[in-house]
Amino acid sequence: MSALPSSGVRSLRAGAAGDLATRKISITTPLPGPKAREMIAQALTVMSPSLIHVYPLMVNRAAGCMVEDVDGNVFLDCQAGVATASTGHCHPRVAAAMQEQSERLIHICGTDFHYPGYGALCAKLAALAERLQETAGVPAGERDGWQTFLTNSGTEGVEAAIKIARHHTKRAHLVAFRGGFHGRSMGSLSLTASKSKYRKHFGPFLSGVHHGTYGDLPSVERDLFTRTVGPEEVAAIVVEPVLGEGGYIVPPREFLAGLRKLCDRHGILLVFDEVQSGMGRTGTIFAAEHFGVVPDVIVLAKGLASGMPLGAMMAQRRFMTWPAGSHGSTCGGNPVCIAAALATIELLESELLDNTKKVGAHLKSQLEDRLRGIGMIEEVRGLGLMIGVELQTHEQADAVARACYERGLLVLECGEKAIRLSPPLVIDEAQAGDAAEIFASACRAIAAA
Ligand code: PLP
Repeated sequence: MSALPSSGVRSLRAGAAGDLATRKISITTPLPGPKAREMIAQALTVMSPSLIHVYPLMVNRAAGCMVEDVDGNVFLDCQAGVATASTGHCHPRVAAAMQEQSERLIHICGTDFHYPGYGALCAKLAALAERLQETAGVPAGERDGWQTFLTNSGTEGVEAAIKIARHHTKRAHLVAFRGGFHGRSMGSLSLTASKSKYRKHFGPFLSGVHHGTYGDLPSVERDLFTRTVGPEEVAAIVVEPVLGEGGYIVPPREFLAGLRKLCDRHGILLVFDEVQSGMGRTGTIFAAEHFGVVPDVIVLAKGLASGMPLGAMMAQRRFMTWPAGSHGSTCGGNPVCIAAALATIELLESELLDNTKKVGAHLKSQLEDRLRGIGMIEEVRGLGLMIGVELQTHEQADAVARACYERGLLVLECGEKAIRLSPPLVIDEAQAGDAAEIFASACRAIAAA
C-alpha cells in the first residue's frame, strides 16, 4: 500500500466532497424534497420491494459525518450506513488508497492467485487478534496465530464460520441466540433470530440450529444441552459480543466468559460475530476486548473497509484445517476493498479508537442528561459509539426515528423498541452534542403528541 500522509481527525474535513464535512444541519425543503420525491417514486418501481427504506432519503454525496440529499438538505449522520462508514464518509486517505490501488489492480481473484494486499490484510488482522489474546492473558505458548478468509460481506463471513466449524469438528449442530442477527443468506439466516419477518416464508432452514436466550448462560447449558442437543454434537456457538440489530445490548461479562468455558469443556468452537461491533465501533478493535474473552473464530465486515464490500472470517490457526478448494470466493478480498481496509485500520489505530472512546462517552452522557425526565425513555446504554436508547413501545421508536430525520438527524431503530446511534467514528464532541439535542427534542415532541 502506498504511504499515506498522516493526518489528525480535523484533516478529514477536507475531502473531495469539499466543505460538506464541516457544514451544519440544514433542512431547506419539506422532506422529502421535490427532487428526492420524484427520483424515489421512479426508483421504487424497479427496485426489489424487499428493501426497507426507513425514511425517504435520496443521498447525493457525503463527507465526514454529514450527508447531503439531492435537494441540498444536509443531515448529521448517526447511523453511518448501518454502522459501516467507520472512518467517516469519503475519508480522503481511504479514497486515496482506493484510487491508487484501482489504477494498479482491481481484480484477479484471491482464491486462485496472489497479490500483496491479501496477505498484508490477513497479517494485520492476525496481529490485532494476537493483541486481543495478549491483553486477555492468553499465554504466548497457547497462541498459534490466526488465519483469515476474506469475503464480500458479513453474511458470507458467517457462512464461512459455519463451514469451518462443521469441517473442523465433523459435527453438525450449531447454537445461536434469540435476538441475534447474523445475515440473510440461508446459513446465516438460520442463525438470525432478531425479528421473525426476516425468516418468514424462507424455511426450511439449516437443520441442527438451536437458539438460546441472549445473555442467559443457563439457556444453553441447562436447556439446550440437557434437553435438545448434546454438547458433543455441537460444532459452534455463534454469538454477537454486543447485540447489534437485536437492540444494542451489552451482555454481562459472565455470559461470554461462561460460553468460553462451555466451548473449552466440550470442544465447541466459539464464534464471535463482530460484523457490527468490531473494527473500532465500541472504542476497541474488537468488542471482545471489553470482556477479556477470546473466541476461536471472529467474523468482521461493515466498518472493516469503511463501506467497501469486504468481510473476514478469521480463526486461530489450529482450527483452519480445511484443505485447498474446500472454500473460496471470486471477489472476496478484492484488492480495492483491501486497500480501503488497510487505510481504515491505520486510521483506527492512529486516532479513531481514541476519538471513539472520548466522543462515545460524551454522546452517552449528553443523551443521559438531555433525556432525563422524559417518561418514555427506558434506558441509554452501549459502548463507544455503539449507543442504544430503549423506548417503551415500537411505535415510539418508529416515531422518534422519523422525527429525528425531519430535524436533520439520521438514526435507525433496533431491537423491538430501541434506537441505535452509530455515527462515523470521526464524529466530534460538538456534533455529538448536536445529535443529543436533536434526539432529545424529537423525543420530547413524540412524548407530547
Ligand atoms: N452479523 C451482524 C452482527 C450484522 O449486524 C450483520 C448486518 O447487519 C450481518 C452479520 C450481515 O452482514 P451483511 O449485511 O454485510 O451481510
